[in-house]
Amino acid sequence: MSSDCLFCRIVKGEIPATIVHETETTTAFRDISPQAPTHVVLVPKLHSPDAVALVKAAPGVLDDLFRAAGEVAEAEGIADSGYRLLFNTGADAGQTVFHAHLHLLGGRELGALA
Ligand code: IMP
Repeated sequence: MSSDCLFCRIVKGEIPATIVHETETTTAFRDISPQAPTHVVLVPKLHSPDAVALVKAAPGVLDDLFRAAGEVAEAEGIADSGYRLLFNTGADAGQTVFHAHLHLLGGRELGALA
């Protein structure tokens, strides 16, 4: 946990967020600036700056994130229509919060990736 990390603070309940799913290792909440009708951010409770660092530090937690994403997609009613899962990794990819997080986007037809 990092006291100056936004997502660590959401995990700890210090900053409000709309939590939609929680497991022993993962917290999932609605993105504050949704890019699709469903836009959920899934974060490991363990602080790690990005997904590649996370897989090195705690490989099983990445499995947990994807499993949780599937459960959120089911709960949101988009499991059958389809959805996008993505990690922005580093500044050039547009990562703005340096705590690994998996975006789940769905509820509309999503365009091709740039
Ligand atoms: P990134 O650009 O991949 O790092 O994604 C960070 C995401 O966190 C963005 O989609 C932001 O809209 C989202 N975000 C930033 N602050 C908050 C917050 O306080 N609550 C929920 N989502 C946030």
